[in-house]
Amino acid sequence: MTSTTRTGCPHCGWPDDAEPFQVVSRHATAAGSTLWTRCGCGSLQVRTVDDRGTRIVSRSGPAQ
Ligand SMILES: [Zn+2]
Repeated sequence: MTSTTRTGCPHCGWPDDAEPFQVVSRHATAAGSTLWTRCGCGSLQVRTVDDRGTRIVSRSGPAQ
């Protein structure tokens, strides 16, 4: 299966649709939940999860 829309971490290539390296915290929202995750490279990500799936809305740089 090949998809050109597949995305991943720009710092280490961790695929966005894979299991997060580490879930930092989870917050319930009206639409679903907001998930703060840390990538294997140390990049902090904010994901929104609702009935349409998971989207990464913010991504920080990798850990120094
Ligand atoms: Zn990464």
